[in-house]
Amino acid sequence: MTKVTPAPIRLFNTMSMQKELLEPAVPGCVGVYVCGPTVYSYIHIGNARTFTSFDVVVRYLRYRGYTVRYVRNFTDVDDKIIKAAHETGEAPVALASRYVEYFREDAKALHMVEPDVAPKVSEHLPEIVRIIQTLVDKGFAYESQGDVYFSVRADKDYAKLSKRNLDDLSVGERVQPGDQKREPLDFALWKAAKPGEPSWESPWGLGRPGWHIECSAMSEKYLGETFDIHGGALDLIFPHHENEIAQSESAHGKDLAKYWMHCGFLDLEGAKMSKSLGNVVRLRDALEKVDAEALRFFFLSTHYRHPLSFSDKALADAEARMEYFYETLRKVDERLAGKDFGAGPVHGEPHRFLGEFECAMDDDFNSAGALGALSGLFGMMNELTDKPPVKDKPLVGRTLLALRDDVRKVSGVLGLFEDDAGAWLLRRRERAVRERGIDVAEVERLLSERTAARAAKDFAAADRVRATLKEKGVEIMDTAGGTSWKVAPAQG
Ligand code: AMP
Ligand code: ZN
Repeated sequence: MTKVTPAPIRLFNTMSMQKELLEPAVPGCVGVYVCGPTVYSYIHIGNARTFTSFDVVVRYLRYRGYTVRYVRNFTDVDDKIIKAAHETGEAPVALASRYVEYFREDAKALHMVEPDVAPKVSEHLPEIVRIIQTLVDKGFAYESQGDVYFSVRADKDYAKLSKRNLDDLSVGERVQPGDQKREPLDFALWKAAKPGEPSWESPWGLGRPGWHIECSAMSEKYLGETFDIHGGALDLIFPHHENEIAQSESAHGKDLAKYWMHCGFLDLEGAKMSKSLGNVVRLRDALEKVDAEALRFFFLSTHYRHPLSFSDKALADAEARMEYFYETLRKVDERLAGKDFGAGPVHGEPHRFLGEFECAMDDDFNSAGALGALSGLFGMMNELTDKPPVKDKPLVGRTLLALRDDVRKVSGVLGLFEDDAGAWLLRRRERAVRERGIDVAEVERLLSERTAARAAKDFAAADRVRATLKEKGVEIMDTAGGTSWKVAPAQG
């Protein structure tokens, strides 16, 4: 095997607020930790946007020659899980493992690559207790009636990621009567057991971990004390990532991560999609209505750091665009099937689009720019199949082959165009037929009538049939491979 030298990639680091050159701690190997779902409900498409963004980051790093170790955890011990289990009457552990399975199904349905490790909090109690003990021993944490808190004032770097000022943060905050903590900003590393809640043995008695400590313990176990990329959406910067930094860096005296990447929110009608606001669209409900690749296309058509507004129209547009891509691929497949164009030159510069694609992705994973480069590539495919600027058929064939090879390369990065073109288009048509109540038997009958009219050179009759089909929302396409049909885009 030839060894690929990884290409230089720049990425925006929330810590420095600048784009930096990716220089992994171990050259050529990148450790990536992404904060995963809290498993008490189905994920929504806002969560899915963030996970898809990192899915593409990991895929692209691999494409560029890096060896990636990708860790995404499951938060399966949490107040919200306990509350949800209370409502369903299940044990919290049982409810959480149910949602872990649903998450895995959802991630697969959205064509996400599996992380190398997907650790669960419930399986890492010894590691969690160990790091809390280190923090207590070093004077960064204190025990209080079975709880353990991190003392924010003991960490002189606290809030360096969000650049907040401790005094501003504590304005108006008071330790409430009954609170075990010394200062309002202190946060729980360990919570004493309450009746009916899952709990584990610890040096401070029975209890369970606070939220933030799990990521410090699990990232250390799977990626080491300092790793390369840490990711999540913007809402995790404060307090979650800030607290992870405080815990890990106080325990080890080393940077937790070299690069911090944060995704912008998916918004619905101007507000962040979130369970607490109730404005969520579940991923699995969305995938009932829209193709998984179209949803990925929608996510990737905006740079991961920018906000993205969800609407049915935006999804329909994404699906229409995917249809265009797949129609192009089907035409090209038909043109290339079973032919050998021999070795020789190609027309123009077909590989320049792949170059543009890589340039965009090397620049902070600019998937929007990368998709722009694909427009050029598909445009050239269409030109070569519909109205080739040169007569030399083998030359055109070789050029189309080169373009199609590059589509395969980007396909593995974006998780798009992974399907067979004919199969994808048929699935889309079947869904549209169901949604629009189109009678397929009638369409087929009209199409045979048209074929007969054309064979009899009665072009007026053939045109009438085309018009009738159009009224029914059916569009027909005559290609080299014969006549095919699709459901026309809905009006309005
Ligand atoms: P949670 O299960 O709430 O911890 O969320 C899982 C991931 O989804 C975290 O990285 C969140 O930051 C992210 N997330 C939550 N809501 C949104 C949203 N509306 N848009 C993008 N990412 C989100
Ligand atoms: Zn985390």
